Amino acid sequence: MKVGFIGVGNMGGPMCRNIIKRSNHQVTVFDLNPAAVKACTELGAGAAGSIAEATRAADIVMTSLPMPKDVEMVTLGDGGILASINPEQTYIDLSTNAPSMVKKIGAAMAAKGIPMLDAPVSGGTTGAEAATIAIMVGGERKVFDDALPVLQSFSANVIHMGALGTGTVAKLVNNMLSFCNLAALSEGMMLGTTYGLDPDKLLHVIASSSGNSNAVRNFSLRALAGKYSPPSFALDLAYKDLHLALELGDELGVPLQQGASTHNLQRMARGMGFGSDDSSSVLRVYETVLGRKVKP
Ligand code: NAD
Repeated sequence: MKVGFIGVGNMGGPMCRNIIKRSNHQVTVFDLNPAAVKACTELGAGAAGSIAEATRAADIVMTSLPMPKDVEMVTLGDGGILASINPEQTYIDLSTNAPSMVKKIGAAMAAKGIPMLDAPVSGGTTGAEAATIAIMVGGERKVFDDALPVLQSFSANVIHMGALGTGTVAKLVNNMLSFCNLAALSEGMMLGTTYGLDPDKLLHVIASSSGNSNAVRNFSLRALAGKYSPPSFALDLAYKDLHLALELGDELGVPLQQGASTHNLQRMARGMGFGSDDSSSVLRVYETVLGRKVKP
């Protein structure tokens, strides 16, 4: 198949390169960042000069973009995907988007007879590189089945959740848990090390005890090592994801105590100027307030 890939940054880049390395699909990329494009063309992707060019060259057009407004602009904006795509093609959004935006774009695509899937991913940049990410997909079963050979070329872990939008809701739930775990871990590590515990031993205990979660691995790779920049997953993007989960909670009337508290913590970290750093920067709120590092 021919794949048009728009947005080849931290996540889109490795996913796109896995399609090139692991399949015979022909890939054409478009990104505003020339370095991101080059990292894909070096492996054999074609470079498109515009969204329209990337769209016209493809059976399946995919996007992996930062914010809902970026996805809106790239799909529905001037010179966007909708203007050049036709009903023989499929549009798949891999971004973590707002369920309402997924529905809005889906309706605009459907009005032109274009099938669409929302297919956000989880597993971070390491999972994207290792082709082990979870891909949670919303959309019609037949469209999903037809797109499977392309989705499976960058991970075998593909789950069809249901109608359009359900992939995105699953992703927002997952990320809310993941950020809450990271916030709780930061707090616990600060508590234990302020008493005087050794940070590495404490993290080892947590990793092999009931407090374990995926946050432990990220914490040891990033926060504990003080490696916040360049980000693997930017705090600004994590803040966006949690905002979207809270918005959904509002819409559905579901109380989100832990999510709201973690969102406030992220807001403080952004207020301290860490927005473009790694999302594990929530630890730095505690470190700044207490004037000491978990691992000096
Ligand atoms: P990123 O900023 O590294 O990459 C986004 C890419 O999109 C950049 O290369 C940027 O140049 C490009 N771009 C932005 N606007 C564009 C436009 N108008 N036209 C063409 N290209 C454009 O972000 P990322 O970390 O790769 O995240 C992408 C999406 O994946 C986000 O929705 C994010 O929430 C989600 N996500 C990220 C991670 C992670 O660990 N980084 C994990 C899961 C999901």
